[in-house]
Amino acid sequence: MKVLKFGGTSVGSALRIKEVGKLISDGEQKIVVLSAMSGTTNSLVEISEYLYKNNLDGATEAIIGLEKKYDSVVDELFASAVYKEKGAAWVASHFATLRSFVLEKFTEDEEKEILAQGELISTGLMHLHLSEICISSALLPALDFMRIDEFKEPDLEFIRNNISTALDNAGDAEIYITQGFICKNAEGKVDNLQRGGSDYTASLIGGALVAEEIQIWTDIDGMHNNDPRVVENTKPIAVLSFEEAAELAYFGAKILHPTCVLPAKLAQVPVKLLNTMEPSAKGTTICAESELNKIKAVAAKDGITAIKIKSGRMLQAHGFLRKVFEIFEQYKTPIDMITTSEVGVSLTIDNQKYLDEIVNELKQFGTVTSYTNQVIVCVVGDFRSNNTGFVNQITTALKDIPVLMVSYGGSNFNVSVLIDAQYKKQALMALSKKLF
Ligand code: ADP
Ligand code: ASP
Ligand code: MG
Repeated sequence: MKVLKFGGTSVGSALRIKEVGKLISDGEQKIVVLSAMSGTTNSLVEISEYLYKNNLDGATEAIIGLEKKYDSVVDELFASAVYKEKGAAWVASHFATLRSFVLEKFTEDEEKEILAQGELISTGLMHLHLSEICISSALLPALDFMRIDEFKEPDLEFIRNNISTALDNAGDAEIYITQGFICKNAEGKVDNLQRGGSDYTASLIGGALVAEEIQIWTDIDGMHNNDPRVVENTKPIAVLSFEEAAELAYFGAKILHPTCVLPAKLAQVPVKLLNTMEPSAKGTTICAESELNKIKAVAAKDGITAIKIKSGRMLQAHGFLRKVFEIFEQYKTPIDMITTSEVGVSLTIDNQKYLDEIVNELKQFGTVTSYTNQVIVCVVGDFRSNNTGFVNQITTALKDIPVLMVSYGGSNFNVSVLIDAQYKKQALMALSKKLF
């Protein structure tokens, strides 16, 4: 069985829902994972923000605004009066849920319930639409099988065991429709896989079922060789290895959720990135094999802070790095990039929540300087050490740009440099010009 995921823009209007409906109705049995319609999760975040601030009027107004959008979607999506009524009832029930949270007491638990409504609405609308055009489909409730543990990691065994039960319970159908993004947590409460997490849902399902293929349908024809939001004339890449795709997703290629490659890789299920607006385009295939001797792509991760620790005591000292890392561990702050010399160590983080505390504690080891508003530019390709010349091409491309850190050798697939955000566009353009 194949698992097909459609993102927010792919189901972003009544017309798009109808187009996806056509695309998935080819007679083959499949699982379809849907995101919320584009803009919805942002609106739900906004509603939650009003409620955190106890602005009940603001929240109510935002709910009314969003409901109006859905009323016109229902009107456009369904042809018959009967289905218009069914669609309206579906939407109304979820907006009643939203309104039930307009209360003075508002916590993270209520927020997560609110954020879940987008995917619940979109999947219900698709199910009703398919039913109106006489295509056999069944809803597969993600909250019955998608679960994270107390460390917020997917509970793979639970998912594996319960997805089969959910499929059995859903009965026979051509298309099983499920919600991306949403899950339950270890306490049994509604939770989610973080923003953009519908890709992760698809790969967790694909991995659990050892599916034939996972398809991520979006608004672009595959993984491009540079960020299309920043650089013109980027090109789709035909084939990427799991490792290359994971590096690109982690270092900023928004087309894929950073964690979504791993479940597919573990189960050796190929992932295809395809374009809903141009279904016949070849897209990108992510699999175990990749083309060697090539630089594949460039990506950039924003919002990075660099921390430099200069220490006379690092010289010849064992245990120094462990003590430094322990501080990051204590504040649950992951490190992205690291470079060392005999007299110091530089690290980058993207979560600044405990920056002040971390910097204060690091001061016991020497002089500490932090640099905010940095960007990691990551070049992905075949960088095995006998492949000479590639690193030179990167540094040549960046010859006019001040570079704060360089990391090479961490894997065979990645060279990363840290630069100030003001040079991001210039760096990405220069790399495209030199490398592709
Ligand atoms: P969806 O809503 O379908 O999940 P996303 O907005 O999350 O879609 O991801 C698709 C977007 O990712 C594209 O529209 C594109 O602007 C952006 N993107 C960033 N980097 C890349 C890249 N290297 N290749 C393709 N798309 C990229
Ligand atoms: N709807 C969620 C979001 O906007 C999940 C997703 O689209 O992948 O983040
Ligand atoms: Mg996405």
